[in-house]
Amino acid sequence: MRNRSSIVLTISALVLALAPAVVRAGANERRAKPTDGNLWGVGRFRGGGLIRGPCAARPCIALTFDDGPEHTTTPRVLDELDRHGVRATFFVVGRRFDGDGPVAERNREVLRETWRRGHLIGNHTYTHALMDALDERALDREIDRNAAAIEATIGQRTFLFRAPFGALHTSRASRAVFSRGLTPVFWAIDTRDWASGSPEEVVQNFRAGLEASPRGGVVLFHDTLDRTARALPAVFAEIAARNEARRAQGQQPYEFVGLDELWQPVGHGRRR
Ligand SMILES: [Zn+2]
Repeated sequence: MRNRSSIVLTISALVLALAPAVVRAGANERRAKPTDGNLWGVGRFRGGGLIRGPCAARPCIALTFDDGPEHTTTPRVLDELDRHGVRATFFVVGRRFDGDGPVAERNREVLRETWRRGHLIGNHTYTHALMDALDERALDREIDRNAAAIEATIGQRTFLFRAPFGALHTSRASRAVFSRGLTPVFWAIDTRDWASGSPEEVVQNFRAGLEASPRGGVVLFHDTLDRTARALPAVFAEIAARNEARRAQGQQPYEFVGLDELWQPVGHGRRR
């Protein structure tokens, strides 16, 4: 087993008392499907930790989708995840689904459906704000208003947080996150889907990201983009092909995992 600090051991012991987060599906691939809905994830990330992105002990993939919910594209992402029995995490932006209006209403229903299908939901601020540029009052508003909108929609509080643009550099911004017991989530592989011109380019960027981080880790996508929804089947095919090649060479295949596998206490060094 990998080295773990005593803090992690203590937390692991506590977590063992809860229902298992994943079930076995096949000899080598562990699907990130919960056995008890996604409720296990709600309190798990409460305070004192962060998720940097890279996998530690073994090759893994944790899919994350930002900036939704978007009723025209997110349902297609959900269907593709279902086809592979993979659970992901969606970092949502409050102004897309809060308030009146037919679009907000539709997006709210998509968010509920995302939760119903067993995915985790995280806070991505209310207006997709650059945290580092905000004063304390604005930080409070961005985080709390979105948190309230999420809770009102899915009936659960979330403890996962992703800063827009991954920018969480000022002490004021990081204090706003940690003081609320939120777990900030970064990534290991940026598919740069927001800057890509086609689904093929998204897949190519994913492939390049995996070459650069061969152990895998948290993968960043945006479920608001048509090209991302269209790229996903090829992304899964790419992972399957690599796993076949890895097995043939006696290497461990990538496993789809939930973010809980990548949680680290704050101050814990990067492990590769
Ligand atoms: Zn974003």
